[in-house]
Amino acid sequence: MEFSLISLIIFVIVGFLVLSILLYLINAKSRRINQYALALAKLKRSFNELDEQAKLIVQTDLELNKAQEESDKRLNSLEALHKISRLISTTLDESEIFHRLDQAFSTDIDFERGVVLILDDKKQLQIQVKHGYSQDGANFMLNQLQKDNNLMQALMEGNTFSSANCPLQRRETIKQIFNTGHFVIAPILTQVGFIGVVFVGNQSNVSPITDGDEELISILASQIGQTLENARLFEEVYKSSQALESKVTERTKQLQDALVEVQNISKTKSDFISAVSHELRTPLTSIKGYAAILMDGKLGDIPPQVKERLGKINTHSDNLVGLINDLLDISRIESGRVEMSFGRCRLDSLIENVHDLLTPQMRDKNIDWQTDLDASMPDMFLDSSQIERVFINLVGNAIKFTPIKGTITVSAHLKDNVMQVQVTDTGIGIPEEDIRRLFDEFYRVENEINQNVKGTGLGLPLAKKLVEAHGGEMWITSVVKEGTTFHFTLPVKTEEDILREREEREKAQKK
Ligand code: ADP
Repeated sequence: MEFSLISLIIFVIVGFLVLSILLYLINAKSRRINQYALALAKLKRSFNELDEQAKLIVQTDLELNKAQEESDKRLNSLEALHKISRLISTTLDESEIFHRLDQAFSTDIDFERGVVLILDDKKQLQIQVKHGYSQDGANFMLNQLQKDNNLMQALMEGNTFSSANCPLQRRETIKQIFNTGHFVIAPILTQVGFIGVVFVGNQSNVSPITDGDEELISILASQIGQTLENARLFEEVYKSSQALESKVTERTKQLQDALVEVQNISKTKSDFISAVSHELRTPLTSIKGYAAILMDGKLGDIPPQVKERLGKINTHSDNLVGLINDLLDISRIESGRVEMSFGRCRLDSLIENVHDLLTPQMRDKNIDWQTDLDASMPDMFLDSSQIERVFINLVGNAIKFTPIKGTITVSAHLKDNVMQVQVTDTGIGIPEEDIRRLFDEFYRVENEINQNVKGTGLGLPLAKKLVEAHGGEMWITSVVKEGTTFHFTLPVKTEEDILREREEREKAQKK
């Protein structure tokens, strides 16, 4: 009994131990199973993620391929556009531009059909380029388009339409007009506004129209616009320059004719003055001679009143002889018949001579005489008696038109081998409008002094001609009530210069 109890206890203990070991083992296994289950779930998640990523990669790849295709197409189109732009912008001839566009439609523009329509002088669209249309087909299309005021208005407002973007109804209209399923139509605009239309299209949908096509065709349209505008501007400029040129030629001819006429008239005038002056001089000399004989009392005593009148006859005859001599000199210089006697001369001594000669008149009016001359004056080759005449005339006038206590200044300075001479007074001055006419023969300013003092109006024209005969120029500056300056130049010449000029003149006269 005792044995069986012990056995039972042992059995229970062993059983308990076995059970505990079993329980422990089961527990450990189930923990392991849980771990595996967790790892499996994780694996499943990763697998799913991988699957998603793989799908994404495939999709991205597809999109990339599409984008690549699109950008290749874009690049090709841009290249074509660049080529066409260069082609059409290197000519300024309108018909050549259309000819080149026509070629471009066959070789560079990747559309089955295309047209370029341009407004003519009557504001009607005309077909300038057509590609993929028969003549009848193109005429029909043009007719239909011009009838569709709505579409024309939209194009004139600068709208571009493409089958990819345009509203359904408009798309159908354009399809019908151009008989083309897929298209882009863009207006050609310039600074003056709408001048035409570019249309491109495909009948089949091999390569669908994209936004890029629309953009490209509108750039092409604006390129065409710009090139046509340049060509037309050039044409305009060319035409007006041609017109200007022919006008200039015509005017030059008229001027030449007028010049010849003036030269003829001037020659006739010089001949006339010369003839009349000669005719007048002979009887004048006789009158002067007879007056002198009578005054000398060679024909008997004469009463004082008669003597006085004879004196007046003598003075007036002298004045007339002076006038006739001036006239003869002017006509001689004008006709190139005057013979200058050039010789070496010093301008400062010549000016001093003139001063001596006119000192009495200056003293009468208490006029101050001043000179401003270069310290060392070069020897000059001049006809000293003629240049002295010029100075006498200018200084004489300065005395005449300067009130008492005025100043007369003569200056002479060498600049670039040209003597620059000025005779300045502090006299009454000359109004602007008279200055221009003072070198005309017989012109005198209407002023108080001239009303009282006699004069011929021949002194200044003669002085100017004498200066010009020496290769110089003469001009006047003056301020009314302040004074006047007569400027003239005398080139410093050598004896050789004078001889050479004389030879050249003689040669020219012989011709
Ligand atoms: P004349 O002295 O015989 O009238 P000129 O040809 O010498 O002829 O001069 C023409 C005119 O020019 C003069 O009448 C005068 O009105 C004007 N003139 C000339 N020199 C002067 C001067 N220094 N100041 C003002 N007026 C002048």
